[in-house]
Amino acid sequence: MLGDGVYALTAEGDPNVGAVEGEDFLVAFEARATPLMARRWLDRLREHTGKPVRYLVLSHYHAVRTLGAAAFGATAVIAHERTRALIAERGQADWESEAGRMPRLFQGAETIPGLTWPTVTFSDRMTLELGGDRGCVELRHCGRGHTAGDIVAWLPRSRVLFAGDLVEARAALYTGDAYHREWSTGTLDAVAAIGAEVLVGGRGAVARGDGVREAVEQTRGFLGTLLSEVDGVRTGGGSLREAFVAAHAALEPRYGRWPIFEHCLPFDVQRAWDELAGIEHPRVWTAARDREVWAELQG
Ligand SMILES: [Zn+2]
Repeated sequence: MLGDGVYALTAEGDPNVGAVEGEDFLVAFEARATPLMARRWLDRLREHTGKPVRYLVLSHYHAVRTLGAAAFGATAVIAHERTRALIAERGQADWESEAGRMPRLFQGAETIPGLTWPTVTFSDRMTLELGGDRGCVELRHCGRGHTAGDIVAWLPRSRVLFAGDLVEARAALYTGDAYHREWSTGTLDAVAAIGAEVLVGGRGAVARGDGVREAVEQTRGFLGTLLSEVDGVRTGGGSLREAFVAAHAALEPRYGRWPIFEHCLPFDVQRAWDELAGIEHPRVWTAARDREVWAELQG
């Protein structure tokens, strides 16, 4: 419990989830990868409150955060409009890719009824009133970052921010679908400007006080180092493999011991390379392309 009626479940390296109590309903943030995994989270939540989930908010389209949605029985599933478009374009490929990359998170995969479709979307901001004197949840798009359509959930009353994968606290970053330059500048500036006192990132522990700024700067540092290393090798005429080696060497001392570092870095380097080569819209990851890049860089 993070405050009066504010809950988060964090697990080292696994996607974090959260919930906020309204007067007679709940707002849930993130759905986990399968209904079975989601029910385990809901069972924990039910130790504190029996209110029904009215709104399920999805920070972005990735399968490990969306495919458990059926377990919530939510009246509305809310996401950014680009998240809906990305699910239509690449949701199926992403499902297969992520299930192959992280089978541990897909326990009860047979309980997934299909892709999760947001029923309410927005482009900039949306406010959910919680009723009584509970204040509101502000959903905001801070710019492109981890994906084209990330949103954060801000609770002005308790000054808690659910940041999705835009910020990781003592966990490495997955940037395979990212916009590194925009994320590391304007988007993180906008996240920092919110002024959160408690931050629940996409993975890792809850950050508090000075730890909030540290988590934002740790995220910015990872992106900046990755970009500059890949750019240095590219402009020097080097190969993707050489860019991976350089990025690994530069990031490993600070980030190498944190969850998912080795696991994500090949995909991160490939996307940074593509972005610097002028590929604006991230290429779709498929299970086959995952294996190719992994064999080339980490094999
Ligand atoms: Zn993600």
